[in-house]
Amino acid sequence: MGNVFHAESFSHSLNLSGHEQEAFRRQAEECRNALFGNKVFVRGVVEIANFCRENCGYCAMRRDNRGLNRYRLSVDDIYEELMAGLPECLTDLNLQAGEDPIAVREIAVPLLHRLKGSRLGLSVCLGTLRHEDYATLREAGADYYVLKVETGNAAHYRDVAAPGTLEERLAAIRHLAASGWKVSSGFILGLPGQTNEILKETIGLLEALPLVGCSVSPFIPGEDTRFPKHPAASLETTLNAVAGLRLLSPRRIIPAVSAMNLAGEGGYARALRAGANLATVNLTPESARPDYQIYRRDRAIMTGKRILQEIEKAGCEPSSVGLCDWLCARERGGSPV
Ligand code: SAM
Repeated sequence: MGNVFHAESFSHSLNLSGHEQEAFRRQAEECRNALFGNKVFVRGVVEIANFCRENCGYCAMRRDNRGLNRYRLSVDDIYEELMAGLPECLTDLNLQAGEDPIAVREIAVPLLHRLKGSRLGLSVCLGTLRHEDYATLREAGADYYVLKVETGNAAHYRDVAAPGTLEERLAAIRHLAASGWKVSSGFILGLPGQTNEILKETIGLLEALPLVGCSVSPFIPGEDTRFPKHPAASLETTLNAVAGLRLLSPRRIIPAVSAMNLAGEGGYARALRAGANLATVNLTPESARPDYQIYRRDRAIMTGKRILQEIEKAGCEPSSVGLCDWLCARERGGSPV
């Protein structure tokens, strides 16, 4: 299936409403179904630590937020909790943290080693690191890296104080892809200072990067950030963006993010209906969850049961094949579904 939609039309499509919007999202859903069937990948996430050396203006985990209890989970505790009850529908696991090299070294790497050889595909979302850290993580068993650009305009990136520089993030994404990782990136829709031009630039950039996946997160204003009064992105616009991403890059993995439920009622299932094909079950121990504060303490926590309900509501089914197995089978030209 060729590209049926262009980056140039992306901003325009965000404002579609009524019948046009319905038709646009249906087209995206059909596009997903044509390439992935109605299968949704289900990945667990463990938020292993909330220390962060970055100071992103929009994120409550920024290092200057002194109101947060900082934690690093213990490898034994995470491992035992995971082994005690993994939802059956789960094929993959993602380890996520703020940008914290200690958590990478002391938690992610040993935990991955323990999980290597289990039935789980292993992903990480740990920020921009040194090349040798990526190599160590890969050696430990991870093969899918999530590294979002947040915005594709270098001046805007600097204004909102996203991690490091845009140039560094892009170099990291290219390095990861060139060294064999499957890489997913993404952006925040409605980020303060985002103009149509910036959005166009961001979408064009994401299009051109060597990615297997791409996400859109609706901006959610957090009390402990630089932008507590900035309006949240609307759910309808975000869902149009999900559909736009699917039509722009039909073969990519596109997650429904839990913030979609904060952006509005029924957001999660509707994102799957608009062409998303990855859902995430939160497996962070309950005691730590309130402190993994990206925007607000009242996060939308997705349990295994809730995810299955949302997948069913969207007329989809959980994939029995994991992310990387699926992607590798596709590369080999097999029929992974
Ligand atoms: N530190 C890692 C990194 O830089 O890749 C891990 C990810 S960070 C803790 C989690 C993600 O939350 C960010 O990549 C960003 O896209 C998203 N995020 C942060 N603040 C947000 C906000 N106010 N609204 C929406 N998404 C936000």
